[in-house]
Amino acid sequence: MKVAIFSTKYYEKEYLDHANLENKHDLTYFEESLNIHTVSLAAGYEAVSVMLLDDISEETIEALSLLGTKVITLRSAGFDNVDLEAAEKFHMKVMRVPAYSPQAIAEHAVALIQTLNRKTHKAYNRVRENNFSIENLMGFNLFGKTVGVVGTGKIGRAFCNIMLGFGCKIVAYDIKENLEMKLKGVEYKSFELLLLESDIISIHCPLTDDTRHLFNKTAFDLMLKGTMLINTSRGAVINTLDAIEALKDGHLGFLGIDVYEGEEKIFFKDLSDTVVKDDTIERLMSFNNVLITPHLAFFTNEAVRQIAEITLQNISDFEREPTSRNEIIINLKKTIIEI
Ligand code: NAD
Repeated sequence: MKVAIFSTKYYEKEYLDHANLENKHDLTYFEESLNIHTVSLAAGYEAVSVMLLDDISEETIEALSLLGTKVITLRSAGFDNVDLEAAEKFHMKVMRVPAYSPQAIAEHAVALIQTLNRKTHKAYNRVRENNFSIENLMGFNLFGKTVGVVGTGKIGRAFCNIMLGFGCKIVAYDIKENLEMKLKGVEYKSFELLLLESDIISIHCPLTDDTRHLFNKTAFDLMLKGTMLINTSRGAVINTLDAIEALKDGHLGFLGIDVYEGEEKIFFKDLSDTVVKDDTIERLMSFNNVLITPHLAFFTNEAVRQIAEITLQNISDFEREPTSRNEIIINLKKTIIEI
């Protein structure tokens, strides 16, 4: 099948070409992201493959449909950039990579925690300048701390397992409780109780209408003073302006984020020789207890290989089967179901 791969990153081509040895599709790589302005590039391609920052709005989907595209394959688990109702309207199949090494993201959340806690980034810079002082570098033991986990899906569960290994107590909030986690000692609580009890909170739920700005002023006010908040999920689960106030008043003692509400304009780009016009991220970066990474939690060798393999397998499945695994469909109640 002819496949247009949009938003191709320098590191992906090698993995996709390797995965294609088995699938044998006709791949064309575009560095451009897919949106209404670039959609004409998709002419003649039955399949397009996109990333999270591509804008798969109703008008993009309508244009794709007119150009003959039949399937959109996301090289990601999240799909909040796709208008699924429009996809249904224009009979466009949407597929994704529902799981690729959830450990990659969970382990990055732990890296953010331990960097903020043990200040290894600051020690590294100090020692390089022959400053061997340990002043202001004191951390805390993870052992015995209460960790709140919002969303115990694939990534949340991998995260819980790591934190249980550190000897932490885990409290969790999810709309669906997971029996395996309960048997391991994870206690499910209301969102409010999780906020009241946790020393560290890690977000692993998707971005939905219910979770948008879940972490807002009301939530921050309930937190213990000095709580550490980690977000490797989606930026808009946190109201960033409220987070800045919580950092100022001390409810947030640390903030570690791999995702950011306005990341589309900033992340994955080298802006080192320009002026960043986003005042909010500049304000965040001015706090010494904030750590930001540019959406790289997924970025391990294992995860990138799996994303490439599953993406091309999805296209092969689409060619062969009327209904495919990894297809995102919405049911009559307009909720998303996995098949
Ligand atoms: P998943 O679907 O396996 O788990 C999500 C969990 O969140 C489920 O248990 C679900 O019941 C729960 N949930 C849904 N709505 C909720 C709500 N309103 N309140 C509380 N819990 C709710 O997904 P996953 O694979 O674990 O991924 C989680 C998120 O991580 C993705 O949606 C994506 O946004 C993000 N992600 C980030 C990266 C990265 O590189 N930073 C990579 C992959 C995924």
